[in-house]
Amino acid sequence: MLSGGKRVSYGARALIEGGIQSLPQMHMPGALLIGCDAGTLNMPKIKGTHTAMKSGMIAAETINEFLSGKSNDLSCYEALFKKSWVYSELKSARNVKPFFTRFGNILGILLTGIDQWLFMGKLPFTLSHKHADHETLEDAKEAKKINYPKPDGVLTFDRASSVFLTGTYHTENQPVHLQLKDKELPISYTLEKFDEPSQRYCPVGVYEVHRNDDGSDPKFVINSQNCIHCKTCDIKEPSQNINWVTPEGGGGPKYANM
Ligand code: SF4
Repeated sequence: MLSGGKRVSYGARALIEGGIQSLPQMHMPGALLIGCDAGTLNMPKIKGTHTAMKSGMIAAETINEFLSGKSNDLSCYEALFKKSWVYSELKSARNVKPFFTRFGNILGILLTGIDQWLFMGKLPFTLSHKHADHETLEDAKEAKKINYPKPDGVLTFDRASSVFLTGTYHTENQPVHLQLKDKELPISYTLEKFDEPSQRYCPVGVYEVHRNDDGSDPKFVINSQNCIHCKTCDIKEPSQNINWVTPEGGGGPKYANM
């Protein structure tokens, strides 16, 4: 994160053109999210660590240009990003996910093969997704319940120990960075219709529904101190009721041993 009141606009549009079509907001007044693996997953390779690292390196170069006085602001990020291999790689993959969501798995595989092997990702059009992610959730009563096996402590681990490994830290009494547009909605609507999905899609259990022992009086609880800032809630909440904002002081996870 870069702080200090400088407005950073490095071109989310460039990333969208480059293949990330459900991009969370990665720039905001006074801050820049760099090297975000969640935001740069590369669909054909099912990985994005290398693109996360490269986008972070370009951000560092941009900041260096600015601090050394070679540029007046940080807007050269977009040009540097577009010149890099990460832009070409993501651009060539831009149609892959829409092929699957629009035409299904079998036709999607076929069209992806034509796109990637015959045209090397250079088809002269860009398909968009038909729906935003948050519009695709099924009603809870129509969805099949998934029973996940308990963590074995060898290959799979419980949430609490995984959260511990993230080294997440937020200063006490910092302003709430997970904001509800309508505080009543999680219980009055989302719980009934979608069984309040934030209980499951948040990877670190920030959102919980607490009840009395007899199941009555549900209450929506936000454990914001555990947040690892993946922005899933901001993107996935079916009514777009959750607004993730930059945490004060840039608090969050610090993966010390990775
Ligand atoms: S940003 Fe990610 S970790 Fe934080 S509350 Fe939302 S879903 Fe959970």
